[in-house]
Amino acid sequence: MQLTVLGCRSGMPADGQASSGYLVETSSARVLLDCGPGIATALSAVSDVTLLDAVVISHLHADHCYDLLPVAKSLLSATMRFPGGPEPRVEVVRPVPVLVPAGARELFARWAALFPVTTMPVMAKAFERAFDVREYTSGDVFEIGDATIGLRELQHVEPNCGIRVDAGGVSLAYTGDTGMTDEAVKLAADVDLLLAEATLSHPDRTEHGHLCGGDAGRIAARAGVKELALTHFTCTERHWLQHLRDDAASEYTGPIRIVRAGERIRLGD
Ligand SMILES: [Zn+2]
Repeated sequence: MQLTVLGCRSGMPADGQASSGYLVETSSARVLLDCGPGIATALSAVSDVTLLDAVVISHLHADHCYDLLPVAKSLLSATMRFPGGPEPRVEVVRPVPVLVPAGARELFARWAALFPVTTMPVMAKAFERAFDVREYTSGDVFEIGDATIGLRELQHVEPNCGIRVDAGGVSLAYTGDTGMTDEAVKLAADVDLLLAEATLSHPDRTEHGHLCGGDAGRIAARAGVKELALTHFTCTERHWLQHLRDDAASEYTGPIRIVRAGERIRLGD
């Protein structure tokens, strides 16, 4: 399994870096986890968008799903043929499964319609033509190629499911956005890599739901993970990141990684 960090900023892109987006590749599956602002561009630098086997969205906050529209339009454009006339013939050979929280289908319908192309009405149907939209609920499990993808609801102001990917005896858990919850420990039980958000410099126990470095470390320790990778940074200044790492290390004695955009992490042999 290989994880490519496409973007690791919380909120909007900054410093030339995209928001949340991670490409997971196994022997027979290429899956995009989250698709925040900047991810469509970052993805295009490392993979042909038409090679995606699935997209999984942790929750419907803009920093985790905003670039779904350009990804859908890229997929749609790749399927268009112009056989001698102005009206495009659209051949969607393989709509890409997009696993999304409940309510996303309705959101997509309104969203795509905001940008009509009057000469090519099909361009306003990017989501329905290019995607196979599947709304999930917590506890659902999907098989994509050799990858098993499990969803588990964590704790965030907008319903957010952590995502677990198992393939070829290797496992990865990704939190999306969450506060401290036992469910995050269950999500990450014994995984090879826990990719955990670490938005905050200090704990916040309000209902909003974000982790600091120490929270991520505590989840990693309780879940018995082999490695912890911190992401979803409010700031990428060196001292800020060092504080996050030190904070996590005060709770977790295993290896800790501060991810960087463009970084590739290999899991297993
Ligand atoms: Zn976020």
